[in-house]
Amino acid sequence: MTNTAKAKQPEITIHTDLCSHDWGIESRHWTSEGEVLYQRCSICSTRRMRLRAMVD
Ligand SMILES: [Zn+2]
Repeated sequence: MTNTAKAKQPEITIHTDLCSHDWGIESRHWTSEGEVLYQRCSICSTRRMRLRAMVD
């Protein structure tokens, strides 16, 4: 069998320090409001969406 150890890992790991998410950009696109960034924490897989308003 070639099952990896991946299945043994918990689906969600909760940080003890909520301020230390390791955000990485998963995708991004531009809207009329500005740039929308979809970020995901590489440690606990929490996602968030950020909007960066356009600046002149
Ligand atoms: Zn995290």
